[in-house]
Amino acid sequence: MTMDRPLLEVKALGIHLLTYEGRARTINGVDLSIARGESVALVGETGCGKSVTAKAIMGLLPPNAEVVSGSVSFKGRDLLRLPEPEIRAIRGRQIAMVFQDPSTALNPVFTVGEQLGDVIVWQGAARAYPRRRGGDIRARSIELLRLVRIPDPEGMLNRYPVELSGGMRQRVLIALALAGRPELLIADELGTALDVSVQDQILGELTELVRSQGLSVLYITHNLGVARMVSGRIYVMYGGEIAEVAPTAEMFRMQHHPYSQGLLAAVPRLTGTIGSGIEGRIPDYIAPPPGCRFAPRCFARMEVCDRQPPPVVEIEPGRKVACHLYGGYPGGG
Ligand code: SF4
Repeated sequence: MTMDRPLLEVKALGIHLLTYEGRARTINGVDLSIARGESVALVGETGCGKSVTAKAIMGLLPPNAEVVSGSVSFKGRDLLRLPEPEIRAIRGRQIAMVFQDPSTALNPVFTVGEQLGDVIVWQGAARAYPRRRGGDIRARSIELLRLVRIPDPEGMLNRYPVELSGGMRQRVLIALALAGRPELLIADELGTALDVSVQDQILGELTELVRSQGLSVLYITHNLGVARMVSGRIYVMYGGEIAEVAPTAEMFRMQHHPYSQGLLAAVPRLTGTIGSGIEGRIPDYIAPPPGCRFAPRCFARMEVCDRQPPPVVEIEPGRKVACHLYGGYPGGG
């Protein structure tokens, strides 16, 4: 039944990046799904492949990227194989991205109203609506600014980005992403450039907005604390692979993968202390470790980890972990 089909389903995605140093095997068999109305977080350190995965979903991979396997299905259609005009009709409209740096993502020479108006007209033209009149555009712009809780939305239309605080600019970017009435939002490190208190406030507001509008969201973040605040399910990514997936509450109750345990240890505590985190660096994607990509950094590493990629094991319904500790090897669980 189509009703049960996830809104977005990434299957066995493999992406190589062609660099001067050689072929980087960056994304290696990623599976990820998002149901309608679900908020999912993709968590991992910088360089672990989160943003490349998001770009593949948005169809914004750089020219040196080569998709070597898998599919990215949105409402049952594989975005990696659709003709360009059909992709364009989906990207930015049914799937929209909230950009992370409000100081650079807005055009400084146009007012907020002009930038919102442009996007609204573009959306209307793309959907072959009758040409919108100026009043319609203004009314829709004000409606969008209200949705993201901008005080005095009428006044905001005439202001330039430079006149706004970082938090207000971030809200305008969210309004721009919502202009096409998307079904799926991708938020890449949302609010990272802002003060922590402003980031918390915006994340809280977005979570409420997402719920009230019935949207689905993929949050990309390096911060498990942020993932806890905004998502119902967490994918932990390491070295271009999914290390562990679990409902958010379960992930915080217990982490099975040694990398998830290390990430959680690095979340700042209320006491102000920061845990020890994880020693070492992300793998070299040109010559990744032949077995488990996390092996060089793993405290629980076994002999098998160096020669064989770990199996993905379903520990309980909805919880999966890619680790030999759970694969039935001697010394494993
Ligand atoms: Fe550690 Fe081995 Fe599990 Fe990889 S497979 S995370 S090296 S125990």
